[in-house]
Amino acid sequence: MHIVIIGGGIAGLGAAYRLRRVADAGHDVTFTLVERDDRLGGKIFTDVAPDPDGGAYIADGGSDSFLTDKTAVHRVAKLLGIFNEETGTLDETKKTFIVKRGRLVEMPDGMMMFAPTKLVPLATTRLYSWPAKFRMALDLIIPRKVRWAEGETAQQHDETLERFVVRRLGREALDRLAEPLAAGVNGDDPKDMSVAARYPMLLDMEQQHGSLIRGFLAQRKKVEEMRKKYPQKPGGRRRTMFSSFNAGLQFVVDRMADAAGREHIRTGVGASAIGRAGDAWRVRLTTGETLEADAVVVATEAWAAAELAAGVDAGIASLIETIPCSSCATALMAFDVADCPSDLAWHGILSPMVEKRALTGVTLMSSKWPNRAPEGRVLVRGFLGGPRDQAVLEKSDAELLELARTQLVELIGLAPDARPRYARLFRWERGMPQYTLGHLDRVDEIERLEAGVAGFALAGNAYRGVGVPNALESGERAAEKVLRDLGLEPPADPVEERRVY
Ligand SMILES: Cc1cc2nc3c(=O)[nH]c(=O)nc-3n(C[C@H](O)[C@H](O)[C@H](O)COP(=O)(O)OP(=O)(O)OC[C@H]3O[C@@H](n4cnc5c(N)ncnc54)[C@H](O)[C@@H]3O)c2cc1C
Repeated sequence: MHIVIIGGGIAGLGAAYRLRRVADAGHDVTFTLVERDDRLGGKIFTDVAPDPDGGAYIADGGSDSFLTDKTAVHRVAKLLGIFNEETGTLDETKKTFIVKRGRLVEMPDGMMMFAPTKLVPLATTRLYSWPAKFRMALDLIIPRKVRWAEGETAQQHDETLERFVVRRLGREALDRLAEPLAAGVNGDDPKDMSVAARYPMLLDMEQQHGSLIRGFLAQRKKVEEMRKKYPQKPGGRRRTMFSSFNAGLQFVVDRMADAAGREHIRTGVGASAIGRAGDAWRVRLTTGETLEADAVVVATEAWAAAELAAGVDAGIASLIETIPCSSCATALMAFDVADCPSDLAWHGILSPMVEKRALTGVTLMSSKWPNRAPEGRVLVRGFLGGPRDQAVLEKSDAELLELARTQLVELIGLAPDARPRYARLFRWERGMPQYTLGHLDRVDEIERLEAGVAGFALAGNAYRGVGVPNALESGERAAEKVLRDLGLEPPADPVEERRVY
């Protein structure tokens, strides 16, 4: 059986590599993957660029990491034999700053997401006003909004992040931390963002503990108990919340493509329409060719999937169309350490919307990861755009790079005349799906309709999680769905899935 996969991001490659494993287990399965861009990886894009004086920058322009709690990347890395190539973040330089009235304020110790769990750091931080600190503490006594009936879940009690945080912790907690976190991590606007889809555990915590602060304190206690019970082995691997690969995140994408079989992968070729001819599927390509297939996996961004699904099921297409996507850009720049401020022991800066800055966030890549820049150089990444400021993206690449540079002068004290030794702008046009209120209901309905279309499956970050592990797993699930539709129960992988840490 022949399956066409549309889209060569981590989801499409997850599907391809899964099909390859099924073929290697002795089944008659082949695939063709088509990717519109001339490269694979989608939102994972590592640029390896030499410095004129020697050494190289490993610059991740899109995703630079994955959450280690979600095991899909580890599992696939083990299958590929590249688990030892993973690298954790440099946690000795872990500080995060928040911009307040143009100055940097360190994130207070004990903040779990945007809820305080330590009294003294909350009392002494300049991040919040005193009335805001008292308002946050009221979370301990404000009753639940409602008590859920037996069997109900967060999905039945969805609300926007804005409403939820203001209700529990107050407006300043939203403006100073929850909003920049949502914008920085997910490219979301809290006014529309679905808590049930992005952070269901927050709604669960309110139910279980009657308070976010109590919920996070309980979570912290559990983590501490686990650490005591399973201490890190001497010489063992460091546990970090985020991981990547020594050669950048694109490394895993490239190895997946190698293992799946590059001879089945075509780049620079898009799919323009999907149709049926009896039991067979037909995928029209931008080259004018038509591919015949027994099944199709669509692993593109939501807006592209909506266009392609129109030829399959109008109901699916119109539901996918309701998933909005925001655009952003990242400016990657390297400077001489002599041009940088003396304190480089931090990972990131978040700039809240209330600060009205073009630069919404900064990651100090060479302090967050080992070996991202040659000795004596600093690699930094600035975020521009996102749902709060799409207009800034109308500027040219050179203008955006210069904008990011001048903002670094203001924010971190980069020398005003510092010239980047490496600079590259990455644009992510409609690159981040927004999980708006009611997202899970829409995805349930999409999946219900998709289940009724044999030989057709959707994958990607638009449905059940934007993280790299979620997207990878969605591709594997899509491959398995179409195999089952074709009457083949996919065999289990040779290594059993288990927690790595
Ligand atoms: C700036 C940025 C930073 C991020 N940081 C992180 C992070 O640190 N950690 C994390 O877990 N996640 C992060 N993410 C999110 C994560 O990278 C993505 O959710 C994930 O990589 C998406 O994978 P995907 O395969 O679903 O989609 P994509 O990577 O978008 O791949 C879809 C592919 O489909 C192709 N395509 C579209 N239409 C067609 C067509 N008609 N025919 C053929 N091909 C087509 C596209 O060209 C694209 O390559 C970040 C995202 C961005 C933009």
